[in-house]
Amino acid sequence: MQFDIITIFPHIFGHYFQTSILKKAQEKKLISINIHDLRDWATDKHKTVDDTPYGGGPGMILKVGPIYRALKFLDSKSIKKEKVLLLSPQGKKFDQKMAKDLSNYERIVLVCGRYEGVDARVDKLVDEKISIGDYVLTGGELPAMVMVDSITRLVPKVINEDSLKEESFSLSKNCLEYPQYTRPEVFTYKSKSAKLKKLKVPKVLLSGNHQEIAKWKQERFNKLTR
Ligand code: SAM
Repeated sequence: MQFDIITIFPHIFGHYFQTSILKKAQEKKLISINIHDLRDWATDKHKTVDDTPYGGGPGMILKVGPIYRALKFLDSKSIKKEKVLLLSPQGKKFDQKMAKDLSNYERIVLVCGRYEGVDARVDKLVDEKISIGDYVLTGGELPAMVMVDSITRLVPKVINEDSLKEESFSLSKNCLEYPQYTRPEVFTYKSKSAKLKKLKVPKVLLSGNHQEIAKWKQERFNKLTR
């Protein structure tokens, strides 16, 4: 599984992609992540990739030309199953189901916008526009990281398959995981009114009775709502 990210801030990604599960997935060659600087496809000596909007208005717009040339450079006949996606608050809402579907692709190309956005003609050069939620970020880099992260953990062998079976959204859009606890069995703390309070782990989880524990988890799994 290959990710290609087109951005004007390639340095943003390094630390995150070189940590924990994403790092291991790359080391094991289960995924590869290539970051491309959009300015490499600018044609002037100042490496211009943006310009003012036609019709006036605030801010700058990423130009269609450099994005077209970047996508052309990445075009590959040998890749059979790929999606070219533009990050945009106006796009289709990203969710776990989409992450699961995309984890079956050979390659995903992510185009990150910046400033006031991207020339609308780029819509014709991509398969789809994707939003990670109904809020506006300064650029498409965080959405790209969110997508790479959530898709990667669904790629076979990246994480233990058992962890994926019973996690939130694994069965449906509304299904949430059961509550989880770890040591200590009793957590004592001072409340805002300075009273000592105790928070206990449900007894059944300490019982060692695997059948009862499985029943307890099953009863809570997929029954919780936000
Ligand atoms: N002017 C645009 C609008 O009102 O829809 C917002 C542009 S935003 C400041 C700059 C870039 O950040 C966008 O082109 C997009 O690539 C990215 N972006 C911002 N919010 C996003 C979101 N919720 N999902 C995906 N991408 C987003």
